[in-house]
Amino acid sequence: MEKLRITLGAVSRPLESLKVKTGDWGAEYPVVIEENCKACGDCVVYCPDLCIELVETGEVDEKGRKKKVAKVNYDYCKGCGTCSVVCRHEAIKMEIKELYKG
Ligand code: SF4
Ligand code: SF4
Repeated sequence: MEKLRITLGAVSRPLESLKVKTGDWGAEYPVVIEENCKACGDCVVYCPDLCIELVETGEVDEKGRKKKVAKVNYDYCKGCGTCSVVCRHEAIKMEIKELYKG
């Protein structure tokens, strides 16, 4: 009977992927329309590259809470468009990068 051979995979060390900036990979990029953003966090949860966070705007709402808005880290965004699809408030639209415009 043939022995099962298990090859070692290429597994990077923790945080190694931070060194690989993948922001150039996509043909599109997401633009946050800040006035529409409700800081619900859906895009943060669904982004496969974990490159969206909610940041404080420096303003407070009518209840005195600090306002937040989604912010994309373009160093790592691959332009997949998931954030734009899951946003229920039409606060993220995808744009084509200059390089790919006809
Ligand atoms: S899903 Fe839309 S509304 Fe919610 S935080 Fe992201 S951009 Fe803002
Ligand atoms: S386009 Fe994709 S990778 Fe970029 S922020 Fe949105 S969900 Fe994340």
